[in-house]
Amino acid sequence: SKPCQAGWRSTSTKSAPEVPSEQSSGGLSFPPLQTFSEEETMMRDAVKKYAQERIAPLVSKMDEDSFMDQEVIKSLFEHGLMGIEIDPQYGGSGSSFFSSILVIEELAKVDPSVAVLCDIQNTLINTLFAKLGTPAQKEQYLSRLSTDMIGSFCLSEAESGSDAFSLKTRAEKQKDYYVINGSKMWISNAEHAGVFLVMANVDHSAGYRGITCFIVDRDTEGLEICKKENKLGLRASSTCPVNFDNVKVPVKNILGQIGHGYKYAIGMLNEGRIGIAAQMLGLAQGCFDHTIPYTRQRVQFGKRIFDFQGMQHQIAHVATQIEAARLLTYNAARLREAGRPFIKEACMAKYHASEVATLTTSKCIEWMGGVGFTKDYPIEKYYRDCKIGTIYEGTTNIQLTTIAKFIDKEYDN
Ligand SMILES: Cc1cc2nc3c(=O)[nH]c(=O)nc-3n(C[C@H](O)[C@H](O)[C@H](O)COP(=O)(O)OP(=O)(O)OC[C@H]3O[C@@H](n4cnc5c(N)ncnc54)[C@H](O)[C@@H]3O)c2cc1C
Repeated sequence: SKPCQAGWRSTSTKSAPEVPSEQSSGGLSFPPLQTFSEEETMMRDAVKKYAQERIAPLVSKMDEDSFMDQEVIKSLFEHGLMGIEIDPQYGGSGSSFFSSILVIEELAKVDPSVAVLCDIQNTLINTLFAKLGTPAQKEQYLSRLSTDMIGSFCLSEAESGSDAFSLKTRAEKQKDYYVINGSKMWISNAEHAGVFLVMANVDHSAGYRGITCFIVDRDTEGLEICKKENKLGLRASSTCPVNFDNVKVPVKNILGQIGHGYKYAIGMLNEGRIGIAAQMLGLAQGCFDHTIPYTRQRVQFGKRIFDFQGMQHQIAHVATQIEAARLLTYNAARLREAGRPFIKEACMAKYHASEVATLTTSKCIEWMGGVGFTKDYPIEKYYRDCKIGTIYEGTTNIQLTTIAKFIDKEYDN
């Protein structure tokens, strides 16, 4: 675990000048992107320490067992990492979107599975409740989401993945409640979730304009969490099908407006992609930080393998790619925080960071030679974990399609 703290990343950020946060959103000076407010720096450093001490020792076992340790979940809540942006009046940390991004990056350096738990909770679930919840919904759920309850986001189905809004789960109105029927697939963190935000169609004749977001408690009759998937990577994060068999949900459990679910899902996923970019960025950096010390110690032909120019050029190339992914990610996050358009930039960040994670983890295995291919080192796990970056919250093709749409528009007269 030591080498992780000795990476070039830590050194470079420590020397970054700290300026007040209001300066970074405009004004006379133009601070570099890697400028953090005092609060952001504190949060990042605290998470770095927490992840090394409390998560790192459990990573390999959680991966092997395909199970998230309860202590990890408990400690994430205790450290305020499950309600980063939630208002302190509901027990949250009252921090910023950018802080969430830094937290996700730090957690992913140590375990991308823990990072995605924190990511979905903060960038999708909490934000949806905070933006759309009635005072009663906020009181009931935000106070639990910040202290002891995990939330899951249920959009995908077996037949609707990239084409998410062709979803078939339906919700029929009867008196003062709705009855939900259908099946969701790939639901992250379902194993431990206490609440599910479920996209269901209340009026199929209206097409995607019938999609509505429902709050469904775990213990509601008819809700069934099925056997989790046996996955290539991200194994400690549960991914389960969730069935809804005549699940009765009171009208007061609609989140936001009827028929606006598709808008909420698009909006949240646009922001969520910055979180996935941060996850992939952290993953790449964590893998790199474990590998470089090895290349500086391992001797072949009487030299450190780091000293061969053939190695140095590859290492410098990967370091540059990671830095580019970091700048894209931070820029998208700062744009979102400043209330400026950020969708194209978020897609670029997620697309690029996923590519960089793939490149980095593959190269790191090569640089470590045979031992990189074994479970004695964490590199092979990063290699397995990174693949999800090109799939969830919009596949790489979907990111590229969105980026192209923006480019096309920009060249309209
Ligand atoms: C580990 C994991 C966790 C997940 N967590 C969640 C979750 O918490 N909640 C949730 O709702 N969903 C979740 N998902 C689902 C995830 O978002 C979908 O898997 C993803 O959107 C892709 O859908 P699909 O798997 O059906 O692939 P498909 O949509 O069938 O795509 C297959 C291939 O076809 C390509 N393709 C499809 N359409 C186009 C197009 N128009 N142009 C070009 N290429 C195209 C894709 O890029 C891809 O390469 C998760 C998935 C995984 C694997």
